[in-house]
Amino acid sequence: MQKIVFDHVTKYFGDTKAVNDAHLTIREGEFFTLLGPSGCGKTTLLRTIAGFYRQEEGDIYFGERKINDIPTHERNIGMVFQNYAIFPHMTVFENVAYGLKARKVNKKETEQRVMEALEMVQLQHLRDRVPSDMSGGQQQRIALARAIVIRPGLLLMDEPLSNLDAKLRIKMRSDIRMLQKELNITTIYVTHDQEEALAVSDRIAVMSEGKIQQIAPPEDIYAYP
Ligand code: ADP
Ligand code: ADP
Repeated sequence: MQKIVFDHVTKYFGDTKAVNDAHLTIREGEFFTLLGPSGCGKTTLLRTIAGFYRQEEGDIYFGERKINDIPTHERNIGMVFQNYAIFPHMTVFENVAYGLKARKVNKKETEQRVMEALEMVQLQHLRDRVPSDMSGGQQQRIALARAIVIRPGLLLMDEPLSNLDAKLRIKMRSDIRMLQKELNITTIYVTHDQEEALAVSDRIAVMSEGKIQQIAPPEDIYAYP
């Protein structure tokens, strides 16, 4: 659980300001959503904090420290993306254990933590199956379990539900919301879907052409994208 500060962050691609002077604080344990149409800069903003992109202007703070001063392996950020990025030939268990292996967690603790994460996403009964023959919703639950098993201080999700059918999307979004509250993980969530943003968020930043237009809780949002 970490507070995140974007202090006048600007990211260029050539002459384009993909993110234009983003200035905001995300509170500890908050479910914070970046909402806006395709191309407005949501993913780019998320990627600056994930460390995939480096901003040209401004600073990002993770707790009290500048993100660029924290080595990647110490950041402990969990990520879930639209295209699940799970390993199709590893079992569900092995997929979720992957991040713990890299962190040299011992076998007994790995077993315990993986099963705990699988229970949270209701997949414990499928631990020895391979994801390639599982549904989109189940695959996205694996990705979620893999993100939370490292006990992240920050959870980043980029359109995690957009490949799922409408009914499953609604079920998954309430599951994600409940899990996030239970674990109290600071979360930044990216979506172009207004209804989804209104349903899951503590606060929403509405973006347009790289600029943040409004930051408010769902009931006070007026600057619809
Ligand atoms: P969103 O996530 O809201 O769809 P993006 O952050 O992907 O928006 O894109 C913001 C802007 O930056 C767009 O104009 C997009 O074309 C541009 N952009 C994104 N990634 C790159 C990149 N790797 N190289 C050049 N331009 C990019
Ligand atoms: P999304 O909008 O779902 O984030 P996109 O389809 O816009 O994804 O982008 C897919 C990939 O292409 C991303 O890695 C992004 O950084 C890159 N990209 C987006 N726009 C551009 C662009 N104008 N030039 C180069 N790469 C881009």
